[in-house]
This record gives sequence, C-alpha cells and structure tokens, in this order.
Amino acid sequence: EEQYLVAEQKTKELEKAKEELEDYSEQLRKSSQYKSNFLANMSHELRTPLNSILILSQLLGENENRTLNEDEEGYAKVIHTSGTDLLKLIDDILDLSKIEAGKVVLTIDEVNLTEYPELMKLTFNPIADKKDIAFNVHLADSLPDVWYTDGQRLQQILKNLLSNAFKFTETGSVNLRFEQADEGMLAISVTDTGIGIPKDKQKLIFEAFQQVDGNTNRLYGGTGLGLSICSEFARLLGGYIKVDSTVGQGSCFTVYLPQLTQEQADSIQLAIQE
Ligand code: ADP
Repeated sequence: EEQYLVAEQKTKELEKAKEELEDYSEQLRKSSQYKSNFLANMSHELRTPLNSILILSQLLGENENRTLNEDEEGYAKVIHTSGTDLLKLIDDILDLSKIEAGKVVLTIDEVNLTEYPELMKLTFNPIADKKDIAFNVHLADSLPDVWYTDGQRLQQILKNLLSNAFKFTETGSVNLRFEQADEGMLAISVTDTGIGIPKDKQKLIFEAFQQVDGNTNRLYGGTGLGLSICSEFARLLGGYIKVDSTVGQGSCFTVYLPQLTQEQADSIQLAIQE
C-alpha cells in the first residue's frame, strides 16, 4: 500500500515537471520569435536613416563643386566608409536572425557558372589592384555550365570568403577555383597566401562573433559574423565548408554544394528547423 502511494506521488511529480518543461520550451520558442522579429524590425528602421547618411556623405566626399577643403573631404569619406561597415553589420545580423528563426527563403534556380569568373573579377579586381595581390579565377572544363542552387546565397558565400581572403593577405595571391568533387558535388575553393589560422581556432571561427584576434584594438576590422553566415547558408543548400590553413602561409576555404531542386531545398529547411 505504502509503496503504491510513493509511486503515485512520484508519477505526479514527474507529470508536473514535464508540464513545467513544456511551458518553459514554449516560452523559449516565443521569446526567440520576439527576438527575431525585433531584430528584423530594428534592422529595417536602422537602414532607412543610414541610407541617407550613405548617399549624402558620398555626394559630399565627391566634392564636385570644390566647396570643401581637403580635410573636410576626408571626413566625408570616413563617414561614408563607416556607414558602409555599419550597413554590412546590420545586414549580417538580420541574416543570422533569419537563419535562427528558420525564415530564410531559398530560391533554387539555374545558376550559370560560366558567368562567375567575370562577376567575381569585377567585384574584387579593384581591391586586388590596390593591395597588389594577384587574383586568379579558374573554372574546370569538366563542370556543367549550369548548376541548380540559390545563386544569390552562393554569391553571398563567395563574396564573404573572398573579402576575408583579401583582408587577411598582404602579398601574394588569392585563387578562386570551381571544380567537380566526389558524389556529384561542386567544390569552390578560395585560397590565399595570407596570415593563416591556428589549428585550434579553425573550428571556432565558424561560430558567430568569433575571431582569431578577439582584442578590441585588433589589426583587422570585422564582426566575426561572415563565416557563420556562410556555413549556415552552405548547410541550407545541402553542403558544407571546409578549411585548411597554416599560420604564416595561408588559408584555403572550400565550399561543397550539391545540385538541388526547389523541393529538396524546402525539405532541408524543414529538417533543420526540427
Ligand atoms: P570577420 O572577418 O568579420 O572577423 P568572419 O566570420 O568572416 O568574421 O571570420 C572570423 C575570423 O576568422 C576572422 O576574424 C579571422 O580571424 C579568421 N579568418 C577568416 N578568414 C580568414 C582568412 N582568409 N585568413 C586568415 N584568417 C581568417
């Protein structure tokens, strides 16, 4: 009799704990939703005034009527670059919060790979020339002309990896290669001859806000969000990113992507949310 009562008491306690746990996870889900909505609204509200700052500081910096002296023209340019950095940060935070909330909408389309070398050269030749770094792009002959994936996200991944490659390289070269990999995957690698990444940090850098040099007065700017966004996008596109790097010699980041249909992309999205 007594044992039965104890067991009954225990069952009740367990049920209560289970209810509490369910309440708690519901609260967590809601507050994470609030956070995402807040970030999305905030980003939008921040972007509107920032756009005016960007457009007007650019006009000032161009100084076509010579109304500013040299110092003032310099100040206008600083306002413009700081504004551009801020916009990038806002966009990155918005992207991350969308990923966290499972709200990224992928659009699978025919991506014309043959257009990529020109596209990337157009974007990165100016910085390559400025830093006197060679920038080479190679597209393997064995690849099909079109690849089914989300072209916009793919461009975002590559631009992030290439920006890093140029940021952390002072001399030498940056190479972008598109090749066929095992299991019908596309392998895109970005190789640089820059500062490299210590082995014990190579996993960490894919987490949000993580940088090898975490000091506030560090040499290189940035937020530590780029790589976490890249790896989440690669995952949403059914692939992954690998890094191989030696300190003082350089780094190689490779993105592996399968060909996808819209249905496959949607089911990856659902699976990740669960
Ligand atoms: P951010 O570049 O804004 O700091 P990322 O998430 O893109 O953020 O990169 C995180 C960190 O990884 C960088 O701060 C840097 O320490 C390291 N890293 C990324 N790419 C490279 C690279 N090509 N060479 C050396 N270090 C790199």
